[in-house]
Amino acid sequence: MGRPRIVVLGAGLQGTCVALALAHRGHAVTLIESRPSPLSAASLRNEGKIHLGFVYALDQSGATQRKMLEGALCFAPLLDRWCGELPWHEWRSEGFLYAVMPDSIAEVGTLHASYTSLSALLSEMAEHELCCPGYLGRELSWLWRAAGEDADSPFDRGLSMKGFFETEEAAIDPRYLAARLKDQLRRHPLIELRCGIMVDGAERRAGGFRLNLQEAGESRTLDADLVANCTWSDRARIDATVGIPADAAPLCYRVKHQIMVEQTPGMRPLVPITMVQGPYGDVVPRRDGQVYISWYPECRTYFGELPPQRSLEDPEVAQSVAERSLSALQQWLPDLAGARILSSAAGVIVARGSTDIEDPQSALHRREAFGVKSYAGWWTVDTGKLTNAPQLGEITGAQINEAMK
Ligand SMILES: Cc1cc2nc3c(=O)[nH]c(=O)nc-3n(C[C@H](O)[C@H](O)[C@H](O)COP(=O)(O)OP(=O)(O)OC[C@H]3O[C@@H](n4cnc5c(N)ncnc54)[C@H](O)[C@@H]3O)c2cc1C
Repeated sequence: MGRPRIVVLGAGLQGTCVALALAHRGHAVTLIESRPSPLSAASLRNEGKIHLGFVYALDQSGATQRKMLEGALCFAPLLDRWCGELPWHEWRSEGFLYAVMPDSIAEVGTLHASYTSLSALLSEMAEHELCCPGYLGRELSWLWRAAGEDADSPFDRGLSMKGFFETEEAAIDPRYLAARLKDQLRRHPLIELRCGIMVDGAERRAGGFRLNLQEAGESRTLDADLVANCTWSDRARIDATVGIPADAAPLCYRVKHQIMVEQTPGMRPLVPITMVQGPYGDVVPRRDGQVYISWYPECRTYFGELPPQRSLEDPEVAQSVAERSLSALQQWLPDLAGARILSSAAGVIVARGSTDIEDPQSALHRREAFGVKSYAGWWTVDTGKLTNAPQLGEITGAQINEAMK
């Protein structure tokens, strides 16, 4: 009898990490992707922030902060383990400035208390050696500090900002990470990457699964002994075809645009900024001069219980979303005046919640319910955030490895 055939569905960062974790343990893996190339959906079209938990200040239980910290602290060490040491210093942004907006749904005091808990959590995790010391190639030391509004503030002077916090939180440039991982997938002798294949569904059979696929307009099947479903926006639908029940907490799907701009020459270079707490925006200067921008009320173009049915690739919609987002952000950040739009691309975000983030009670402020589940040979991986993909990849790889013993 041959070795069990492991098939991973979806070659975003999550599927890639599961494949790498398995290959690192010596297992051969087939990785199926519907797009022409891997790492070209949400794992490319994002902000790249490796969350330390600041954004989830409204989760008073601290569970989301813990989950983000755990994911963030093993993000680089796991990818380094699978790929060799990666140049994090070339891909990493400066630290984020958290700016408390005039109509923030959380007061500065509440945010201060939450960030203080975060520091305590980090110390506790370090003490118990639950985490690796590295965060994107360097050690965390001060994590965050309250900052006054000084002459260098990037915000318009006429605005009544409530407060500022400097942090050690950073983003990586997803373009560089994706390019490096694509290369790793193509070169790895134990990984067979098959792109351009759409997974329609699967059937459970004696000792395994039959996957129903579409390739170049033709229906095909592929038999697998073990399957890891990492298809993100299509995950719940594919799970249902093998009888996996939907989660008790309903999923919501949002479409959000990744917009890249270039500042006008002569403007002060921006720093990474996250505006809190509510439906505001982010700015992330990349090392090559491009700047990621988002303004939530304009960038978030879909919210629903089902994945978006229309194409995400409409260039006119993407351009119009970018123009409106830039125009809104220019009201806050004068250094964006005259900025030029370089690109705009939509990505899907899957989470739990029935109301959007302007609601302080929204489940979107508590992101602790994602992760890996297994059902007799079928693993389903809800990535949650880019931040957690390597951690969940390692967990899935370890579980599948155990199941094969
Ligand atoms: C604008 C934006 C900003 C974001 N910012 C951040 C951030 O700063 N920090 C953070 O932690 N997270 C962020 N996220 C979330 C993050 O991008 C996702 O959590 C993460 O990329 C999900 O990874 P994934 O591999 O599960 O999904 P994907 O990258 O979408 O990969 C899934 C893959 O499965 C393939 N697929 C789907 N269905 C099928 C099928 N039926 N058959 C075959 N293949 C299929 C898709 O083509 C895709 O390649 C952001 C998301 C967006 C959209």
